[in-house]
Amino acid sequence: MEKATTIEAVRTAVRAARKEGRTIAFVPTMGYLHEGHLALVDAARTEKQAFVVVSIFVNPRQFGDAGDLEAYPRDEARDCRLLDERNVDLVFLPDGATIYPPGFTTRVSIEGVAVPLEGEFRPGHFDGVATVVAKLFNIVSPDVAFFGEKDAQQCAVVKRLVRDLDFPIRIETIPTVREGDGLAMSSRNVRLSPESRTTSLALFRALRHGRSLLEYGASDEEAERGMRLLAESEGAEVEYLRVVDAETFDSPNGRSDVLLVGAVRIGEVRLIDNMPAERQLNSEIS
Ligand code: AMP
Repeated sequence: MEKATTIEAVRTAVRAARKEGRTIAFVPTMGYLHEGHLALVDAARTEKQAFVVVSIFVNPRQFGDAGDLEAYPRDEARDCRLLDERNVDLVFLPDGATIYPPGFTTRVSIEGVAVPLEGEFRPGHFDGVATVVAKLFNIVSPDVAFFGEKDAQQCAVVKRLVRDLDFPIRIETIPTVREGDGLAMSSRNVRLSPESRTTSLALFRALRHGRSLLEYGASDEEAERGMRLLAESEGAEVEYLRVVDAETFDSPNGRSDVLLVGAVRIGEVRLIDNMPAERQLNSEIS
């Protein structure tokens, strides 16, 4: 596996691979890798003659809270070992000044799908995501890029970015990889104390509860109230637990296939998760 820290080194390696007819398959990450990230790498590997590129960059512009950025876990040596074992071809490890050199003043800002939920609770977050993803796409120039459905709204934002700015890149998504008990894997989980680790299941349980309420004919409002009650009774501090349209992240209107999305705080740690559900349109009461 080749390691690159400069933009030029990435471009040189990608140019050579493309000349050999390889498909450039890209997985952007913030590191501290777990099986969710590695599932993206495995999906990238299935591309025809894949040249798999992974980036590791903890993007300061997508963190609102300096403390959260500071506390974000990092272990470059372990990450590189895991990527090497998964036959990654190139890992891009830029430092802050490589991505944001002095004088950097551009911001990519997305309306619509980036506005509610994560957009509302983490102001500026999706501008940071869209800006760094646009830069990474221009640096790596992949044929295809892979994102996890755990960050469902981020997937929608990236798809919007690609369509609106005409990036010639196919976006593929993979399902959320979970721990045995249901907790969605996340680099942040390592910050959960043993007690918080137990409480963290409240989010998964709330979503599952919301899904069965909808399947039994509850209205969206009833499902949202039920999810909140369950999560709070188990000790989570709820930011939002909502029933939304999986494409717009707004109210699902007449659709029967919806997405349940949630963000909670367990002590210092913020967790997000989501789950698709089918609701019974005819039996909606309120
Ligand atoms: P991150 O390092 O958290 O920025 O995540 C990098 C990529 O991995 C994003 O596309 C995430 O959506 C994806 N990802 C993170 N956790 C999971 C998970 N549990 N299952 C699937 N994909 C994930």
